Amino acid sequence: GRASPPLAALSQVLRLERSRRTGIVFPLQKLERYLAPGTDTARFRLFQPGLAALQRAEALFRSDRGHPIDYVSSAVRMDHAPPPALPEVCFIGRSNVGKSSLIRALFSLAPEVEVRVSKTPGHTKKMNFFKVGKYFTLVDMPGYGYRAPQDFVEMVEAYLQERRNLKRTFLLVDGVVGLQKTDNIAVEMLEEFGIPYVMVLTKIDRASRGVLLKNVLEIQEFVKENTQGCFPQLFLVSSVEFSGVHLLRCFVAHVTGNLPTVEVS
Ligand code: GDP
Repeated sequence: GRASPPLAALSQVLRLERSRRTGIVFPLQKLERYLAPGTDTARFRLFQPGLAALQRAEALFRSDRGHPIDYVSSAVRMDHAPPPALPEVCFIGRSNVGKSSLIRALFSLAPEVEVRVSKTPGHTKKMNFFKVGKYFTLVDMPGYGYRAPQDFVEMVEAYLQERRNLKRTFLLVDGVVGLQKTDNIAVEMLEEFGIPYVMVLTKIDRASRGVLLKNVLEIQEFVKENTQGCFPQLFLVSSVEFSGVHLLRCFVAHVTGNLPTVEVS
């Protein structure tokens, strides 16, 4: 198969010098030192796994003959979704937020997995289901746009309301531009249905440190003041540099019940 990109595996990241390594594995912590003294950083470290947990999670995302990772099917309606047999996570966000790039990065150690994209305007957008061995499923939800079409809202609403095996929703927000008005469509939906979710800031390699800090603090404040179901810690990722991807794999493994809890601090 295709070779996986340079920092896709932890073994490669561990060879970097300490500060770069922290930046790749714990990008949010890397920002801490630039905050004004006295800033409350408790929310930066709620999920802070050790190496053993990160490695265990990576093994889940690495396919082999006894552990296949496959695209399963696509669906436009809930009655076409695969049976809810495994714990599930879903990824949702504005079109162009970097959702397919992130899913590709998560699955980069299973290069045979094809993350399809249907970007042709007018094409029906679908929910794409991926199966990670016998452990969990991951769903790529259709992206929402400037005017979320009614069929998108209906499809996503039905999924969020009905999917019994859904353990966590990952709401992607562009790390360069921050929360947009259209993101409120998703936030309101998740809050209304009481769905547990977490916000992921994408493309952090493209944001200057100042912009990233501003967006992180603003979104943290928004989460604190306006949400019930959102995990207080933000996840920062770059699908190009692999920052935050290892930690996100670990969080997915954790919320789907695939990490022994003792390994997570
Ligand atoms: P989607 O519509 O949400 O699936 O977004 P894509 O994954 O197709 O990404 C949209 C654009 O952003 C593409 O041009 C990507 O190459 C770019 N992109 C996505 N993720 C990153 C990232 O982490 N860093 C940078 N620099 N560009 C990214």
